[in-house]
Amino acid sequence: MFDYDAIIVGAGSVGVPAAMAMGEKNIKTLVLDWRPSPGQGQNKHAIGGIRATHSDPAKILTSQRCLEIFSTWKERFGDDIEWLKGGYTFPVYRKEDEKALRSILPIQKQYGLNIDFVGPDKILKVIPGINPKGLIGGTVSPDDGSASPLLSINAFYRRALSLGVTFQFKEKVTSIMSEGGKVLGVTTESKQYAAPIVIDAAVHVQRTCARPWGSMFPSFRTAMKVPLPNRWSHFLQPWWLICDLLPVRKITIFTRTVTDRWYFALPLIRRSWEPICGKPPCFCPRFVHEW
Ligand SMILES: Cc1cc2nc3c(=O)[nH]c(=O)nc-3n(C[C@H](O)[C@H](O)[C@H](O)COP(=O)(O)OP(=O)(O)OC[C@H]3O[C@@H](n4cnc5c(N)ncnc54)[C@H](O)[C@@H]3O)c2cc1C
Repeated sequence: MFDYDAIIVGAGSVGVPAAMAMGEKNIKTLVLDWRPSPGQGQNKHAIGGIRATHSDPAKILTSQRCLEIFSTWKERFGDDIEWLKGGYTFPVYRKEDEKALRSILPIQKQYGLNIDFVGPDKILKVIPGINPKGLIGGTVSPDDGSASPLLSINAFYRRALSLGVTFQFKEKVTSIMSEGGKVLGVTTESKQYAAPIVIDAAVHVQRTCARPWGSMFPSFRTAMKVPLPNRWSHFLQPWWLICDLLPVRKITIFTRTVTDRWYFALPLIRRSWEPICGKPPCFCPRFVHEW
């Protein structure tokens, strides 16, 4: 009576790997996306940083598994997804940021993460050219890295297809069907699909598309802007990923996150600005010094 064992709404960073994992378990899965191909939502805006250095055990464990999948993908499946073990750094200029980052080190170490809080000298070695004025230090986690979001999602998509997952593009889900508290499937603009399980992997856009069914879980629209467009960052060979914790409302071009911090990541290009544009980008005030 059901068309599929499960339906996933959204073929993005969450939906496609979920579909792949379900395909591996022989779960008959349909993925629906209103866009024409996978990864056309937020996925293609991402810079591709992958790190496990979080403070929540569930997030740490999930991210450790992610690092394992991304870092071994090429040897296991042959696609080059541009995995680069380049490391992550959170430079610190404010005492409260130092306190916050130091406070999560015990749990990070408990879960075996290779991360430390180091002084300004080490940060200057890792990020040559960073503004040393007021630099207190920062965390360095050399085992984190990055991969191309576009190459990765397409690799996962091909793998999901080979495992028998069905993808239906240009089809917008308009509601989740349910009866007596049980999910029965989804309605799209043109059809209905029956399944006892529906995974909403488009949650972050729910406010934009004003879902009629709401969400079972609270969701946050966290925003993050990156100073370099994705295509440039790959062209320029990213190395260390730097997360700068800036106080709110200092620089209006950046977007505020739910934690009231301005957040952005810059893939540090090892002294390669000069041949490309002659000078470092003017929109990264912390990183324009002494290049
Ligand atoms: C500038 C920027 C940089 C970032 N950098 C990083 C980074 O370095 N590392 C990192 O881990 N994360 C990064 N992120 C965050 C990351 O991109 C997102 O967290 C992630 O892509 C979200 O995945 P998702 O599957 O929830 O959403 P998406 O990838 O957007 O997928 C949702 C999909 O749902 C589809 N959809 C929506 N509504 C419907 C509907 N009604 N019917 C059918 N389909 C629908 C959309 O078309 C879309 O394809 C960055 C984000 C931005 C904006």
